[in-house]
Amino acid sequence: MKQIALLCVDILEETDPSGLMPEGDYYDAGLKLGESLDASSDVKEILDHMRNILAEPYDEEKAGIAAEYISERISSAGTFFIKGDLRYGSIAEIFCRINDEKLPKQLDLLDTWFKGMIVAEEESDNNTKKEAWFDDTELMIHACRYHDVLYSGTAGRISQITGRLAGTAKGNQEKERRTAELIRRKISDTICEDPECILKLQENVRTRLSVLDEERMILLDQAVFEKILLLISCREHMSSAEKREEYVSMHDDVYDDLVYNVAFQWKKYTFENLCNAWLWLLLGGLLRDECGRILHLFDSSFIPVRKKPSETGTLKDKICFLFYPERYEPVYTGDEADEEFPDIHFYCDRCGDLLNEQEGFHTDEHEWKCTKCGYMNRITWDEVYDYFEYIGSGEHVDAEQSEKAVEKRREELKNK
Ligand SMILES: [Zn+2]
Repeated sequence: MKQIALLCVDILEETDPSGLMPEGDYYDAGLKLGESLDASSDVKEILDHMRNILAEPYDEEKAGIAAEYISERISSAGTFFIKGDLRYGSIAEIFCRINDEKLPKQLDLLDTWFKGMIVAEEESDNNTKKEAWFDDTELMIHACRYHDVLYSGTAGRISQITGRLAGTAKGNQEKERRTAELIRRKISDTICEDPECILKLQENVRTRLSVLDEERMILLDQAVFEKILLLISCREHMSSAEKREEYVSMHDDVYDDLVYNVAFQWKKYTFENLCNAWLWLLLGGLLRDECGRILHLFDSSFIPVRKKPSETGTLKDKICFLFYPERYEPVYTGDEADEEFPDIHFYCDRCGDLLNEQEGFHTDEHEWKCTKCGYMNRITWDEVYDYFEYIGSGEHVDAEQSEKAVEKRREELKNK
């Protein structure tokens, strides 16, 4: 229920229905609401609580308006209760609920979206129970179908490994934890090394999602949106210690990039984009930090990005860029290509304030008067540096090449 509370907090903050609360009180109100509920509370109950809490020190009528708004949002999420965690299992479950499927057993759950990447299916007559086994060298689970279901058998090891991958099992079995980690790394390797792999994953997602009728597709679309909101709010309210103690910890930058990709794709409102958003969710849930490398190689719609070699992050490339910058050509890979200076942060030359965050900041006139200190800053490519450590060194980016890179990206985005 904490998640519902956090969702309420965010909705309140975001919409601020009629300036209901003094800033900062949203969080307390949301949490208070969360504490007073348990998992079985229905929407009406949540609403009544919400009204009571909001009405106490505030205007009752306004509280009613806020509550109505929240009710709409919660009831649309209520059909398939959505959790705020990035676990593979809880993501896969959303689809099952929407499609009225029973949640498959672990092996099938993993194999459904990552066909043949974790489980190697053996020939079978579908009528004989045969224990699944794990091959430590190739890091694959071998299993047979029994009555159409991948049979795992009684061996604890398989369920420990699959449970860790799906995010349902915890425990102290160091060996299994390590095995799951190796499997994640192997899958990430495969996706990065085999250009066909991501295409196959996309195709599989398309096939699976296209079984949904129109009504269910709308539900999935809403569910992904709610999931994005929850992923952001739950993460925001997590302490560093809580993040470290997660079932598989994940770095903030990987997490943020991943959720951004989901949101970017979701917001385009086409079936293809919804499929991409969904695939990013699955990848994040299954691979956690191992997603970092995939995020480096592909843009949000899984088109390989041609970054400056220095940005692939390998030490060799970084050093090479340091020594021979002329061999590299700037490439823009972001999604803000409709701007003249996409993803570029301008700092005031006098006071150092981040100009992009100043009210009304724009680059149209190629200069901007710092609202903090009044200094007139030039906003042009020859004021842009590749890295922080270059600032003031005079080694600006190449204006012509940079503009070309953005233009190229613009075309790419148009043709997507
Ligand atoms: Zn300034």
